[in-house]
Amino acid sequence: MRVLATAQEMQEASRIWRRQGETVGLVPTMGFLHEGHLSLIRRCRKLTARTVVSIFVNPTQFGPTEDYETYPRDTGRDCDLCRREGVDVVYLPTTASMYADDHSTWVEESSVSKGLCGRSRPGHFRGVTTVVTKLFNAVLPDLAVFGQKDAQQTAVIRRMVRDLNFPVDIHVLPTVREADGLAMSSRNVHLSAADRRRALCIHGGLERARVLVKEGIRETDQINAAVRDALAAESVHVDYIEVVDPNSLKPLACLDRPALLAVAAWVGDVRLIDNCILQPEG
Ligand code: AMP
Repeated sequence: MRVLATAQEMQEASRIWRRQGETVGLVPTMGFLHEGHLSLIRRCRKLTARTVVSIFVNPTQFGPTEDYETYPRDTGRDCDLCRREGVDVVYLPTTASMYADDHSTWVEESSVSKGLCGRSRPGHFRGVTTVVTKLFNAVLPDLAVFGQKDAQQTAVIRRMVRDLNFPVDIHVLPTVREADGLAMSSRNVHLSAADRRRALCIHGGLERARVLVKEGIRETDQINAAVRDALAAESVHVDYIEVVDPNSLKPLACLDRPALLAVAAWVGDVRLIDNCILQPEG
């Protein structure tokens, strides 16, 4: 396994593979890898001849008061895990190599990125679409693998790839959870033991919503209220709870089609997101 630090080295490696007729897959991450990331890496290895994992905590997707400085990092352990998974290249750019002092070009999606996390994290998705574009241009992948855990991110990336004709297939894999249901996240390491227990109410709320839908509830106000109650019972501070169309991310008043139930909440100092698909039958 090679560790490459510049876009030029990465492009050269990828061009050689492509000349040999080998397909290239990219798994973009911010590191501090867990089983969720590993599930993406394993799928990528099945789909392509070559697998690149990028590890980059992207400063431009963090707001000025957010956790860029304290975001968990352990590059040595991440590289060991990637080696064990049979990754071909870890692309590990430095911040200075990614963003010149006078960097002035941005990629911005202007619809799907505006609600949900985009509302409470202005500029976040502009950072995401810009860095994913840069990663695509460095790795030159045939496909890239993302997690449904970040449902809005996948919707924004799909839209960007369609609108800007990126020749990259987007694959999205289900959320990997801890045994008790908590969605795996690098940020979980910052939860105290008590907050870790309280955080379970997010998954509990999603499960409650699924039961209500099974029982025939179709008004999204009722579903939102039930999830809100589940979070309030643990004094978890809600950022948003919304039932939206999975592609446009526009809010739905009535569950007349499969919908995305998306939640963001603060558990102590840690902002967590989770989601599920609600499937009305009949
Ligand atoms: P991150 O390192 O958190 O930016 O995530 C990198 C990629 O891993 C993104 O595509 C995420 O959606 C995905 N991911 C993060 N957590 C999970 C999880 N629990 N299950 C599946 N994929 C995940």
